[in-house]
Amino acid sequence: MSRDISIYVHIPFCERKCLYCDFLSFGAGKQQIDSYFEALGKEIKAAAAEYKDRVVKTIFFGGGTPSFPEGKKICDTLRAIKAEFEISPQCEISIEVNPASAIYDKLVSFKEAGFNRLSIGAQSLNDDELKKLGRLHDSRTFVETFENARRAGFGNINIDVMSALPDQSLSSYMETLRKVVELAPEHISAYSLIIEDGTPFYDMDLKLPDEDTDRAMYHETKRYLKEHGYHRYEISNYAQPGKECAHNKVYWQRGNYLGLGLGAASMVDNVRWSNTREFRRYVEFYLNNGTKDNMAVKENFEELSLKSQMEEFMFLGLRLVRGVDVEEFRQLFSKDIFEVYGEVIDKYIKSGHLELVTDYDEHQIGSQEGAHLRFTDAGLDVSNTIMADFLL
Ligand code: SF4
Repeated sequence: MSRDISIYVHIPFCERKCLYCDFLSFGAGKQQIDSYFEALGKEIKAAAAEYKDRVVKTIFFGGGTPSFPEGKKICDTLRAIKAEFEISPQCEISIEVNPASAIYDKLVSFKEAGFNRLSIGAQSLNDDELKKLGRLHDSRTFVETFENARRAGFGNINIDVMSALPDQSLSSYMETLRKVVELAPEHISAYSLIIEDGTPFYDMDLKLPDEDTDRAMYHETKRYLKEHGYHRYEISNYAQPGKECAHNKVYWQRGNYLGLGLGAASMVDNVRWSNTREFRRYVEFYLNNGTKDNMAVKENFEELSLKSQMEEFMFLGLRLVRGVDVEEFRQLFSKDIFEVYGEVIDKYIKSGHLELVTDYDEHQIGSQEGAHLRFTDAGLDVSNTIMADFLL
């Protein structure tokens, strides 16, 4: 059983809610924020005692807006994790920041505390589009934040961009992408906007790009980023060679991860659960009970059956451009992948959506790996509809 583990820390605070957002995030005052970090500190201690035999390979502070609270709170939280857990010397330690709150001094303090990767939520570099999304920053603030991050010493930066925004044209989207590439970040995540039920956008009369424009944005993203040295390693993620996000790869490759903080999800040794999403319950529990048995604030436990593990192995692994490792499947499940999925694999190889690659080389720069089953380019384009066939 692998001793490796990743840690996700949820910071649920935002200065203001964006109109499309369905993440677990909200505004809060100083007192609420202080008590949250106090509770989080207790959870860290409790988790470290439980997982003291593990080695932490990646840490990710996400939200919400981790750059919104006072920088010291975030840095002290990272220091507590480093003090309590065994941390791998190569540990990737990322933090999500928003341009409106990531001022230079805060970025410097993040770097000093040990964060070595920054993810900046730009979304668009068009000020009208940003306003319509309800974002607090403008494109100039974003560029300043990026430059400040470089000055603060961050050599590994992701920029998030979104396509299919209200009133967005293909040319305005490409202008955003062009400006982002000009900054030469190491990593770019490019998602298209999804209108979620329960968000203000859901009830608004929005003029969204039609399907053809949406598809054109998707295809142009692939073409443009490839042309500029970003290899696509997951459906929506692009990186310079060697700069893929190790933390996200843990999710896609079904590694162990521990979620700390409000609503955070965990999966360790094929058992899945999540923390309560109720703020008061979470905070009061830890403030009153300290590090004592914390099952009362964990819920949705599920021990994954072998069938669910195989399904997840396929669903998540096929999101990666490298696909799934045929030998790894055999080692994990003591079964041949073709014995379990022969029919569906055959169907999609014949239709040109899947391919079996025997000497796959992720960066086309050397080291060879064993046989992989992966989506072809055409398969990745329609992967959502194909995935359902991998349910057993
Ligand atoms: S900053 Fe991110 S988490 Fe916060 S409201 Fe906007 S989209 Fe949601």
